[in-house]
Amino acid sequence: MTAHPRAPLPFADALTRRRLVVTGRVQGVGFRPQVHRLATGLGLSGFVRNDGHGVTIEVEGAAAHRFADHLRAHLPPLARIDTLTDSAVAAEGRAAGFVIRDSEGDGTGARLAPDVAVCEACLSEMRDPANRRFGHAFIACTDCGPRFSMTKRLPYDRATTTMGDFPMCAACAREYADPASRRFHAEPICCPDCGPRLSHPLDEIVAALRAGRIVAIKGLGGYHLACDATKEDAVAALRLRKRREAKPFAVMVADVAAAGRLACVTPAEATLLRGADRPIVLLDQPVASRLPLRGGRDGCDLAPSVTMGLPTLGLFLPVTPLHALLFDRGGFGALVMTSANVAGDPIVIDDEEARAKLSDLADLVVSHDRVIRVRADDGVARVVAGVPTFIRRSRGQAPEPLHLARQLPPVIGIGAHLKATVAVIDRDQATLSAHVGDLDSTAAIAAHEQALRHLLDLTRIRPVAVGHDLHPDFPSTRFAQTLGLPLLAVQHHHAHALAVMAEHHLTRPVIALVLDGVGYGPGGEVWGGELLRVDGLAWQRLGHLAPLPLPGGDRAAREPWRIAAALLARFGRADEIATRFADQPQAATMARNIGRLPPAFTTSAGRLFDAAAALTGLAPVNRFEAEAAMRLEAAATEPVADLGLYSIENGILDLDPLMRSLADGTDPVMGANLFHGTFAAGLAELVITAAAAEGLSDVVLAGGCLANRPLTAQMQRLLDGAGLSVWRACQLPPGDGAVALGQAFAAGLAVECGAVESGGSC
Ligand SMILES: [Zn+2]
Ligand SMILES: [Zn+2]
Repeated sequence: MTAHPRAPLPFADALTRRRLVVTGRVQGVGFRPQVHRLATGLGLSGFVRNDGHGVTIEVEGAAAHRFADHLRAHLPPLARIDTLTDSAVAAEGRAAGFVIRDSEGDGTGARLAPDVAVCEACLSEMRDPANRRFGHAFIACTDCGPRFSMTKRLPYDRATTTMGDFPMCAACAREYADPASRRFHAEPICCPDCGPRLSHPLDEIVAALRAGRIVAIKGLGGYHLACDATKEDAVAALRLRKRREAKPFAVMVADVAAAGRLACVTPAEATLLRGADRPIVLLDQPVASRLPLRGGRDGCDLAPSVTMGLPTLGLFLPVTPLHALLFDRGGFGALVMTSANVAGDPIVIDDEEARAKLSDLADLVVSHDRVIRVRADDGVARVVAGVPTFIRRSRGQAPEPLHLARQLPPVIGIGAHLKATVAVIDRDQATLSAHVGDLDSTAAIAAHEQALRHLLDLTRIRPVAVGHDLHPDFPSTRFAQTLGLPLLAVQHHHAHALAVMAEHHLTRPVIALVLDGVGYGPGGEVWGGELLRVDGLAWQRLGHLAPLPLPGGDRAAREPWRIAAALLARFGRADEIATRFADQPQAATMARNIGRLPPAFTTSAGRLFDAAAALTGLAPVNRFEAEAAMRLEAAATEPVADLGLYSIENGILDLDPLMRSLADGTDPVMGANLFHGTFAAGLAELVITAAAAEGLSDVVLAGGCLANRPLTAQMQRLLDGAGLSVWRACQLPPGDGAVALGQAFAAGLAVECGAVESGGSC
């Protein structure tokens, strides 16, 4: 064969070949098929492939130099580019179309999209009797379906997911290979012939729910317990079996219109509800429906046992095709859809475990044969002071990495105790696990360890240090100590502030106000209403709430009336305790012994909410975490500040006058308004004073109390008014779910500056 010299080309740039290296959310989101369509449309040859760091593209042809812009302008709906490098490479000249090449590399640095709720296009196919996927409970495409929960390792391909167990039929294989198909290279693709199967016929599941039975249903990231939310008997039975006394149940509805019949839905909330990550959205019920057994509208009245009188309702839309089928076939107004677990344990994902553990809770256990590889409870979101806030970042959000402003060494953050998660940082990416839960049971502790192992498997990082809480006895701290890595103990509220700073790329020193339930201070103090100056690893306590009495320690957190009683005693009104809290069997004893109890104190904002809820008579006890605070918030209609009811001295915010006034009040609504308004005003003054003294203008607000709407809205307004830049968690939870990320960030900084060694602390 003779090699012919290449004929001269009419345009010099006809031989342009560019190599694009793209990182970001580019795997598992239909990125390669889109690149294929765009390149073919521009008449370019070359290839695209997933690799260790994201996606590599080579394009050759006259339009090659325009390709990067073209790509940015036509990203698939779920894709997001963090970095894109575009460089010239030697042209190959043997134009032979554009191909998708097999994945390369070990997955280091690549990343994966979270699970995605069923999309509109798939729903309409599922509802079309002429479609071959009519009624198919596992319909999925490039834009929807399981991702994280089915991924065993990266790079993301059919074989590395639990869908690898289902060989594609000829028809599905054709779509998978057809660049014109919506399912071109869609890894979860399947059909009734080749896909997973439900354990029970749809009609049987619908009939059970209609009959008021409790049904365990395998979802994307775990099992749910479901029942008809309009049937009081069913919901009450679920409460009894789940031993869940008062915490409201999440409710699934068919669509936004159905949500609007049960709650007030603003446009921002509708957007959250419809989001591809499909979180549970905390909404306000209309005032008229806050009374139990309200007269019905459109035939959908929630059973009183769903919310137990709390006006906040957690609603979400169907996540999986099966959920949508249940509403289509059953016509339900609303279904309770609560995580299936045995009290305090993580959500059940394993089919054997489901049969063993859920048969006591459910009348029917509906399973299927697609394995859930990773546990991911439902995410929970709320619009707080105009900003969508993820109170629980989980299914749909994890493991979407956060892009950091700087590169850090590979490190781990192990989390605290409540709402535990784990985080890993590698270079400029921080990945937070799905919500694990409170580490109070051996199952939860095991799930926490599993979440870390899986995150390390996926990211393939070799951590060089681990950040943990200051509390020596947390299971998370003890777990960190078994990892054989240099340790860094990170103060709880410092970690909260660092998480927000990492999210918002804040590199300058900030004033951080952290309001939460409890976190260890450096000397084992019970902190939780802290004003800090944070400059990376360095932090300083500038102020805090005046200490509240905490009679009986943890018991007082469960029984806010005890804190209220101790406050009454402090105000010289111990004689009121027994009558005020006559419903509490221990009240009389407490009133007698109040002077003799060993003194214990906390600066916790959470306990201040508790005390206020008890003093206003709204909630003497916490039957679930933060119940008293939620009832106090729910009672607030229009916060009012009385600037005479607090004082600030040396950075200490004293709210005793406010608490006295609450004890005097008779109207709980007025009390709730006065509390929120005055507390916010006091906190804002504390922050503004400190910011001026320190010469800083960036203010970080963090901690679980930031989920409180009236408090956050008032503080935001006052701090904005003072010309300060306010930073709150948006993608990360404001509460303890983000602590792991702050700890990892601290560990990364510490490794970088050589400050970490065995047993280090900051
Ligand atoms: Zn779809
Ligand atoms: Zn098929």
